[in-house]
Amino acid sequence: MTTLSTAQHRDITYQLHPYTNAVKHRQIGPRIIERGEGIYVYDDQGKQYIEAMAGLWSVAVGFNEERLVDAAHRQMQKLPFYHTFTHKTHTPSIELAERLVQATQGQMSTAFFTNSGSEANDTVIKMVWYYNNALGRHDKKKIIARNRGYHGVTVASASLTGLTPNHRGFDLPLPTMKHTLCPHYYREGLPGESEEDFATRMTNELEALILREGPDTVAAFIGEPVMGAGGVIVPPNTYWDKVQAVCRKYDILVVADEVITGFGRLGTFFGSEKYNIKADIMVLSKQITSSYLPLAAVLLNDKVNSVITRQSGELGTFGHGYTASGHPVTTAVAIENLNIIQEKGLVQNAASTGQVLQSALRELSDHPLVGEVRGTGLIAAVELVADKDSRRPFDPLGSVGAAVYERAHEHGLIVRGIQDSIAFCPPLIITEAQVRDIVERFVTTLDEVH
Ligand code: PLP
Repeated sequence: MTTLSTAQHRDITYQLHPYTNAVKHRQIGPRIIERGEGIYVYDDQGKQYIEAMAGLWSVAVGFNEERLVDAAHRQMQKLPFYHTFTHKTHTPSIELAERLVQATQGQMSTAFFTNSGSEANDTVIKMVWYYNNALGRHDKKKIIARNRGYHGVTVASASLTGLTPNHRGFDLPLPTMKHTLCPHYYREGLPGESEEDFATRMTNELEALILREGPDTVAAFIGEPVMGAGGVIVPPNTYWDKVQAVCRKYDILVVADEVITGFGRLGTFFGSEKYNIKADIMVLSKQITSSYLPLAAVLLNDKVNSVITRQSGELGTFGHGYTASGHPVTTAVAIENLNIIQEKGLVQNAASTGQVLQSALRELSDHPLVGEVRGTGLIAAVELVADKDSRRPFDPLGSVGAAVYERAHEHGLIVRGIQDSIAFCPPLIITEAQVRDIVERFVTTLDEVH
C-alpha cells in the first residue's frame, strides 16, 4: 500500500478527477506537478520530466513563457473582464478574431469564441442546426463523425466523439450523431488492399451511411485532420479529398476539428493546409493560448456566416454565447501566443524537429513490441502489439500502454498511453537534441517493460 503525502490525501479526499479511474486514484495517489520550464515540468519532489505530450497536446510555447504572463497581467490591469454580448466588444477579442480569420487566407470569414473545445463543438452543432433551419431544411440535422474521433465531452460533443468510454454509463450518444469508419490503414485495411483503395473504401462507406440515413437528413461531417486522442491516426493522403467530394455531392457541411492540429502541430499552420481541407467550419483551441488560459474559437466561412447573420436579424438575436466568450484576458494571451509562434518560427520548427521525431521513432519498427509507428509533424504514436506478425493487440486488462505510461515517469518522461499506443506531442519549442532525448528515454522504458 502506497503511503500518501498530506497533499495527495487532500486531493483524493476532495477532488474527483477527469479521465481517471477514481478507485485506482485513491489507491496510488496522484503525482503533484508543481512548476514548468521549457519542455519540462517538475513534481513536488523536485523530479524533472520531459512533457512529451505538451500537457494535453496543448502547450506550444513551453511551460514558462513570461510574455504570456505579462500579456495576461497587462490586460488584467486594464480591463480584467468584459463581455461581447448585445453590441459590446473589446480590442483583444477584435484583434484575435481578425488574426485568426486572416490566418486562414480567405477561407474563413468570422470567429466565435468559447472556453473549451467541447463547448466549441457544441456550438458547431447548434450553428449547423440554426443554419439549416434558416434555410428551411428542418430535417437536415444529423452529424456524421468517426469511430475513434474525439470532439469533447458535453452531451452533444461527447456524442460526436467516437470512443466507448465517453458513451458508456452516460446514455450517449444522442441519436442525431452518427459514426463512420476510422481511417486507420494498419488496423482497418484489408489484406492486399492498397492505402489508396482503403481511402476509397472508407469514403464509399461514408457515402453508404449518408444514403442509408437519407442525404436530406445529414447536415455535417466532422473530423480531425489527424486524429489525436483516438490514438494519433494519420489518414491516407487522398482520404480528405475523397471525403470532401462526398460531402459536397450531398450538400453536407465539412467541419475541421483543429483543436489539436491548429497552430503548427503538423508542421503547417493549420492541419487543413496539409490535407487541402476547405472546411465550412473550423474549430480551434488548446495551442491557441498554449492552454495558459481556456479558450476556443469556431471559425465560419462566408456561406455559413451569411446565413446565420441573416437569421439572427430575422429571429431578433443569435441566442447563443458564454459569459466568457472572447474574454479579454484569454484573447490577449492568445494574441501574444500567436506573436511568439510567428516570431520564433515555431511552425517551421515543428516541421523540422517533427522529421527528426518521425524518423527516430520509425527506427524502432523492428522492436519486437512495436506494431506500427505513425505520425506527422510533431505528433506521433507507437502502437505496441502482443504479436507482430498477426498484429494481435494485448489483452485490454493487461494493457502494456498503461505499463509504459507509468514506467516512463521513472525515466523522467511523460507520454500518453492510448490503449496500447503510446502518443508523443511535445511543445513546439522543442530542439532536435530534446527530441532524441525523448526517444532514448522511451526505448529504455520499452526495453524494461518488454
Ligand atoms: N476536439 C479535439 C480534436 C480535442 O482533441 C479535444 C480535446 O482533447 C476537444 C475537441 C475537446 O476540447 P476540451 O477538452 O477543451 O473540451
